[in-house]
Amino acid sequence: MKGQGLIKGLGITLKHFFQKEITEQYPDVMPELAPRFRGCLRFQFEKCIACGICVNNCPNDVLSFETEKSDKSKKKKLLSYSIDFQYCMFCNLCVEGCPTNCLYFDHDFELSSFEREDIKMIYLRPEGLDEAEDSQAEPEEQEDKEQKQIEAMLKALQKNPQKVLSRLLEGEEDINILSELIQSDQKTAGKIAELMIKDKEKALKVARGFINKEKKNRAQQEMDGGKGGDNDV
Ligand code: SF4
Ligand code: SF4
Repeated sequence: MKGQGLIKGLGITLKHFFQKEITEQYPDVMPELAPRFRGCLRFQFEKCIACGICVNNCPNDVLSFETEKSDKSKKKKLLSYSIDFQYCMFCNLCVEGCPTNCLYFDHDFELSSFEREDIKMIYLRPEGLDEAEDSQAEPEEQEDKEQKQIEAMLKALQKNPQKVLSRLLEGEEDINILSELIQSDQKTAGKIAELMIKDKEKALKVARGFINKEKKNRAQQEMDGGKGGDNDV
């Protein structure tokens, strides 16, 4: 039939005319992006430990960084981190490999620029980060020192328990009981050594608890032994 094609075409036009519009009016209206859309690769300087995993993972040599040895902590210190974004293919391998989650993609997709050099993003070490890292390192140093003190106390306890325990307890019997416990049980020795460094009052309470329990055990054993003896008779 003549005009059949025309009617079919008009039908399709009419169908689409009444359908919901799918054209996005960008840039007047910003598009809605999927949650996992990869826009611009971002970097959080404070979290980076300069391990180099991202650089090794990147297939296109997009990433690079500079470090130096810290005078104070003698650890590696990150000075700058560069992302040459023009070569990035959004593969996400750097993000997946980073152990401290300092790389991530945001939703910024408007990345064009007039100069090629402007595409490269360089993050420089923020001011004040040295002081913040040093103050964080202090509690760690303190912890190390305390751990060494605990180890030394444990050694002394194992070598000469009576002498060390006389600084904590009074009464020869109690000292001897706890000394025997310490020499026969590594866990008890560790607990007492740790508390003698961290909290002497608590160490005393715990020590008395161990001693009283042991005294009860010994009394019970004596009673059981006595009963056994009576039965034998
Ligand atoms: S997304 Fe891929 S190409 Fe881009 S910087 Fe990360 S590893 Fe390199
Ligand atoms: S993998 Fe993460 S922590 Fe390691 S250098 Fe790269 S950005 Fe820094």
